Amino acid sequence: MTKYDQLAYLDNAATTPMPDSVLQVIDNYYQTQKVNVHRGMYRLANEVTQQYEHVRQQVAQFINAPNASDIVFTSGATDALNLVAFGYGTTHLHADDEIIISVMEHHANLVPWQQVAAMTGSKLRVVDITPDGQIDMVALQKLLNKHTKIVSLTLVSNVLGTYTDMKPIAEAAHKVGAVLMVDAAQAVAQMAIDVQAMGTDFLAFSGHKMFGPTGIGVLYGRTDLLADMTPTRFGGEMIDQVTQQTATFQPAPLKFEAGTPNIAGVLGLGAAIDYILQIGYPKISQIDHELVDYLMKGLSQITAVTIYGSPLATAHRAVVSFNVGKVHAHDVATILDAAGVAVRAGHHCAEPLMTFLGTESVVRVSVSFENKLSEIDQLLTGIQQVKELLH
Ligand code: PLP
Repeated sequence: MTKYDQLAYLDNAATTPMPDSVLQVIDNYYQTQKVNVHRGMYRLANEVTQQYEHVRQQVAQFINAPNASDIVFTSGATDALNLVAFGYGTTHLHADDEIIISVMEHHANLVPWQQVAAMTGSKLRVVDITPDGQIDMVALQKLLNKHTKIVSLTLVSNVLGTYTDMKPIAEAAHKVGAVLMVDAAQAVAQMAIDVQAMGTDFLAFSGHKMFGPTGIGVLYGRTDLLADMTPTRFGGEMIDQVTQQTATFQPAPLKFEAGTPNIAGVLGLGAAIDYILQIGYPKISQIDHELVDYLMKGLSQITAVTIYGSPLATAHRAVVSFNVGKVHAHDVATILDAAGVAVRAGHHCAEPLMTFLGTESVVRVSVSFENKLSEIDQLLTGIQQVKELLH
């Protein structure tokens, strides 16, 4: 029995549990084949290098990237977003250029752009959302202009669960000569991603939010853009030739993967992709939707509860945030924990969104297809207790 079995684990947006198939791949690497990649001449090293590079192909297929070399392994979505901000932003942004993000971005898709804006003299523009949590498309159109160089938006909000259709945004960004970066950290466990159909130039996600291990993530970049980007970390394996004073670099993606990579993480990511594809996105989204629908109905029957974003269950991709009257979100989460329910409470690394919503913190429930309706019942009973105890 694991600790998860004793909990109604409703914090999947923070990180998802790992299935046995992923654990076995990681365990097998450490137990039987822990060698480095891209270096050794012996058979085992070649074998593991092939497995590692096979996952790159698998990821490319998973998100329909044209080439495996468009896939850079990073330590997570944060690392991938930083790589674009510092590897692309610092060389392509100049004074008076503009970066557009939205008010519902995770700090990982905000703070790197603040830093790069300060370094380059460019300006950070923030697009608002509508009361039901959608990007305000009219406001976005107004912000886009010839100075816009980068638009960076989340595919699914980690607080409101809102999904944004990126295709029209990619077209509008391209029309003014800007590139689009998509933060898919919260989307990848819920929906099939097709970077070509979406028309995005960059896309980031983390392995640990899609049933894989921590410490591994992906940056997809358009071939020509990756070629034009500077590495942000330097050292072994990313170089082509080195003299005392100079160095030339490998082509992408290796020029971005300095040092020994997270080999077990990459192999685990491959197994996580297999796990998702074996279950299939149609089934995953059907279960997620049933859970969210049940949750929203239950929450709407508790008078003290305020749900943030859309009142429609269909508008919440596995994530619902709320407050119970004036009770602090931390107190709600503590009482729920005592009732055996794990949720997250706080600002969810989205402080500007909290200001926009007029609150300091919210309680967030995030489901995965592995959850059961009985766990939602447990949560709803816990919220009733909160109401009785504190409201
Ligand atoms: N973007 C979004 C929307 C997120 O929800 C998160 C994590 O919660 C991140 C980025 C950062 O992901 P990581 O911490 O795995 O780098």
